[in-house]
Amino acid sequence: MKLSGINIAKIDEDDFDGLVNFAIKENIAYTIVGPEAPLVNGIVDFFEAHGLRIFGPNKRAAQIEGSKAFTKSLLKLANVPTAEYSEFSDFKAAEKYLKHLSEYPVVIKADGLAAGKGVYIVENVDEAVQVVDGLLNGHKFETSKIVIEEYLDGEEFSLMAFVNNGKFYPMPAAQDYKKLKDDDKGPNTGGMGAICPVSNISQATYDRAVNKVLKPFIETLTEDHIKYTGVLYAGLILTNKGIKVIEFNVRFGDPETEVVLPRLKNNLGHVIFSILNDDNPEINWETSGVDLGVFASVSGYPDSPIKNADLGTVGSFENLNCEINYAGVKLNGDSLCSDGGRLFVVKTHADDLVDAQNRIYQDMQKLKQENIFYRKDIGNNSI
Ligand code: AMP
Repeated sequence: MKLSGINIAKIDEDDFDGLVNFAIKENIAYTIVGPEAPLVNGIVDFFEAHGLRIFGPNKRAAQIEGSKAFTKSLLKLANVPTAEYSEFSDFKAAEKYLKHLSEYPVVIKADGLAAGKGVYIVENVDEAVQVVDGLLNGHKFETSKIVIEEYLDGEEFSLMAFVNNGKFYPMPAAQDYKKLKDDDKGPNTGGMGAICPVSNISQATYDRAVNKVLKPFIETLTEDHIKYTGVLYAGLILTNKGIKVIEFNVRFGDPETEVVLPRLKNNLGHVIFSILNDDNPEINWETSGVDLGVFASVSGYPDSPIKNADLGTVGSFENLNCEINYAGVKLNGDSLCSDGGRLFVVKTHADDLVDAQNRIYQDMQKLKQENIFYRKDIGNNSI
């Protein structure tokens, strides 16, 4: 197995003291934060208070992901379109609201971090009340607030940007396949695969997303004295009334990053370092071909992923032609076993989509199939 770094897994992502001590001891030049929870909990403020350089938004700015209600209010200020919504903490009030709604489906969201699983698209009142009961009475996630919002229909795409306190550098658009099963069936997941670029998002739509969503939103942050440095991720949807925002995340989005960053022609470390130095990096992207990634998840994902499921020998993964990035796996002797829901992503760059799909799916078939599940149609929206 190729190692591209050293895993210091013994330090938890919420052990800020442990991480700061490690960064000081090892003389780390700068830290990049991957997951959202430490950002929302203020790891950037903590590192900076210790004189350490770190790439990511501070605690206040990270509320953009930590609280959907906070982001909705910023979107309103920026005059950026998003779904109409209402907030509830009281079950009875939410139930009453749902019973009086004239149109379904409707979208119910936990107002807090839920690892991509706190969103429910419900088709009728009964289903809606059951979901709200689980969230507000059953405390399914660590939140006592929910957002009920208008269902938006259209082509979804993701647009990330490097942001440096008012200045921003957009990345190419990507598309994530969120649903568990082929043809967009089944529940939402953390993402079952992704493609970049997105052929059915035109250059004009991309330009509008940059100029009418990212730009005014980032300007509003500056006007509100919210200092934002890091990666900003916009989940967007092209409806018949134009582009609307579904959500913002405050870090690289997964799995889109798997297919966006291979297209970065610069050295990622240099880009981030120059942003931390407040320089203006010139960033170049690959413009030809397609990058595709397919995630394998463990059977039972997302509700009850099987723990310690055998995935085959390390050797069986080494014989693949495509690149593979590991996520929820661990070593068990000379085999891999599951250690999370989404296991690994198989990805490639090719001249065209069909070629990319053939390469990836041929590779995936070489792996032990018993305990894994993957969609067979990643990229099909762009055919
Ligand atoms: P979020 O965590 O807010 O990004 O939502 C996860 C996924 O749920 C999105 O990528 C969409 O596929 C879907 N979703 C969220 N909000 C809406 C909405 N208002 N209308 C339709 N689909 C939505």
